[in-house]
Formats: sequence, C-alpha cells, structure tokens
Amino acid sequence: MRAVALGLLGLLGLLGCQRAPYDLDMPIAIETDSLAALAALRAGIAELGGHVTDSAGQKVQVSSVCRCAGATAPHASVAACTVSGVIYLCQPSQMCSRCVKHELGHVFGVAKHSLDNRDLLYAIPAVEGFSDADKRAICKTGYVSGGVCD
Ligand SMILES: [Zn+2]
Repeated sequence: MRAVALGLLGLLGLLGCQRAPYDLDMPIAIETDSLAALAALRAGIAELGGHVTDSAGQKVQVSSVCRCAGATAPHASVAACTVSGVIYLCQPSQMCSRCVKHELGHVFGVAKHSLDNRDLLYAIPAVEGFSDADKRAICKTGYVSGGVCD
C-alpha cells in the first residue's frame, strides 16, 4: 500500500511540474547576509518585473562564502558564481552590483553567456542592467514566469 502511495506521489510530481520554479508575479525572498547583494538582487528582480519581500514561498539563496572555481588563483577577479541555483559571493562582488545581478540570470536558468557585451549576461558584465535580449534569454529558460515574461 505504501509503495502504491509513493508511486502515485511520484506521478503527481511529474504531472505537476508544468509551472516555472520562479513566478515574478509573486514575491521573492532573498536569503543573504550581504546588504550589497540584497540591494543588487532587489534592483535586478524589479527590472524583471518582480518584487522582493522579507519572506516568501520562493527564494534566491546567496552565500557569502566564495566557492567559485578559480577564485583562489593569484590576482583572480572572480566576483561571484552560481552553483545549483545558489549564488556564491567572492570578495569583488561586494562592490559589483552588476556581477550579482548577472548571477540572478543563472539562478533563473540561463546556462550560456551572451556574446554581446551590451548584455548583462555577457561573461564579464559591463552594463548595469538587463537588456531586452537578457530578458528574452531568461524568459526562454522556462524557469521563470510572470513579470517581463508574460
Ligand atoms: Zn555568468
């Protein structure tokens, strides 16, 4: 009986996965101890048509412990990275709001960098905000609904 119930739950889980993990029409909480990262992500989510609250059913997790590949090399300028949907901050990102916003694009499912340096999702971002191409790339991932993706 228990196996049948678990099997049914598994099936329901599969059937129920049509919804994107992030809905920009619903509040998003940011879990971080970095005020700089909080400000950057609040601004980035607003650019995408969403809003941030203190507690919400959906969250973006930020760790101030740098776990980015290559960050410990001499003269490394790795600012931040995203691993399994968690943003890891390295020293330079404390002063690089666009770097933290760029990571939001990865949390929202963008796996490949833009080849256009006018996009925030360019490998080494030079602009401060999401371009229209960035927004299209984020909406195309299927990870995000609502906001600019409607
Ligand atoms: Zn990136």
